[in-house]
Amino acid sequence: MDKNSFSTKVLIIGGGPGGRISYMALRMMGEDNVKIVMNEEPTIICSLPYGVGRKLVPQGPEALVVDLSKGERMPKDMPKDIVHGVVKELDIASKKAYAEEADGQIEISFEKLILATGAVPWIPPVSGVLREGTSSVTSEGKDTWVMYGNELVEKSRLAPNVYVIRGADDARRLDKFASRGKSVVVVGSGAIGLEMTEALHDRGLQVHIVEVLPHLSVALDADMASLIEKRALERGVKAYIGVSVTDVTPEGVVLSDGSTIKADGVLFATGVRPNVALAKACGLKMERGIVVDSHMRTSHPDVYAVGDVVQVVDAPTGRAILPLIGTLAMRQGLVAASNITGMPAELPPVTIWGVSSYFDLHWTSVGWSEEAANKAGIPVKTIVLPVRTRDNAMPLGKNGYWKVVISKEKTPGLKEGQIIGFQAVIEGDPVINLSERFLDIITAKESISEILRHYFAHCPSQNAVDDPYLALFFNYQTTLASKSRPRPI
Ligand SMILES: Cc1cc2nc3c(=O)[nH]c(=O)nc-3n(C[C@H](O)[C@H](O)[C@H](O)COP(=O)(O)OP(=O)(O)OC[C@H]3O[C@@H](n4cnc5c(N)ncnc54)[C@H](O)[C@@H]3O)c2cc1C
Repeated sequence: MDKNSFSTKVLIIGGGPGGRISYMALRMMGEDNVKIVMNEEPTIICSLPYGVGRKLVPQGPEALVVDLSKGERMPKDMPKDIVHGVVKELDIASKKAYAEEADGQIEISFEKLILATGAVPWIPPVSGVLREGTSSVTSEGKDTWVMYGNELVEKSRLAPNVYVIRGADDARRLDKFASRGKSVVVVGSGAIGLEMTEALHDRGLQVHIVEVLPHLSVALDADMASLIEKRALERGVKAYIGVSVTDVTPEGVVLSDGSTIKADGVLFATGVRPNVALAKACGLKMERGIVVDSHMRTSHPDVYAVGDVVQVVDAPTGRAILPLIGTLAMRQGLVAASNITGMPAELPPVTIWGVSSYFDLHWTSVGWSEEAANKAGIPVKTIVLPVRTRDNAMPLGKNGYWKVVISKEKTPGLKEGQIIGFQAVIEGDPVINLSERFLDIITAKESISEILRHYFAHCPSQNAVDDPYLALFFNYQTTLASKSRPRPI
């Protein structure tokens, strides 16, 4: 590479899962003239909470940093194609990007571009989150960002007791904090907030979790989430529900009801926003995220975008949604790379999901929850089924619940009785296979009357004899017949 300028056929901006898989796919499909701009160490982001918790990853977050020079999955010569820096300016008319490296500015000309700039943690604009003035800003967290309200700010501006979790450096900071801190406030109880509650609890901290919604776990409805709340209390996690943080102080936080929580650190797990700054500045079509077609092409024919920065079409409803799922970012990278190399590929509409566990309570939420559907004006009814993992006589058996969300009346784009959401909370038994089953059912826009297409295999040592698909169908039919509500939890 020339010191101050060079040309490349394909330029990728962003070295997260979307960017890295785009790079790998291009190279494996024979395109060797590719460069990737990376501002952060590549990391297995999804495992970072486990790196901090150290129960599943005893070596800590360092073990999750990917060494691209070892080339286990990536082409061995990948390091020669990496520009370690940040693209500060992009001109898609002249097809030039301007990146800042340690040594200065570099001008990169490209023929095709893949934007994989991901998402950044979002923090509500409450006082005390940012350091006072600019003189105390550290170099740690420079050129990585959070969205503070509507403002994109460098992480180096976060107050010393404020944490987020997105990259390796965030996890390292939290890991260090966990060895010296005694108490923490986790703000937000989505999957990441809950995983971090458990991780920091495992490290011996007193954890306080604050959730502005009326219950913990935004992906689940209140009835299913009550099991999560019960588990939090059983494990000594203190939950503050229906209140928000209004102020961060060096001693902890102030809540919207006027009360205070004393804590050594405050972790914001309050969601993410697509990092659209570059795309916006160069005029690409934007709605909730960058608008792309099924080929991952943006409004500019030579610019593709993949991962958390784009919006996609929701399979069950046809609405625009933000995917925010790593495995999807990787698929999109493959699709973009295929199209660039002249091997057409398309990404069909998608269903989003969450799967995790919380102190051995395994949960999943696929598609739409009842609460999300109500908020979006989609009329739904629900069926809640108690399930047992083994026959009653078997002490190994554990209890749990399934909840299915079904479209009620004819809503434009939806079938009557269409399954649009699935949730499960089950003690001790992973729910990932169930999650995948319902991902397929929901993506195929199947209605409840089609559920008996799906088989249930039984073996007493593996599961209970009750066929949950039969139970769902039966419950639906009897509900229709009696017009009564299904049994609540
Ligand atoms: C704690 C946690 C747990 C998760 N668990 C799961 C899970 O279990 N399963 C799952 O599927 N997903 C999970 N996710 C979500 C998943 O990590 C994201 O969907 C995925 O990282 C998105 O990939 P991406 O490449 O689009 O973006 P990112 O991973 O955000 O990567 C984008 C990269 O581009 C960089 N960048 C941005 N702008 C520029 C610029 N101008 N110049 C240079 N670089 C730039 C960013 O700093 C970043 O390094 C989790 C996320 C978190 C935070």
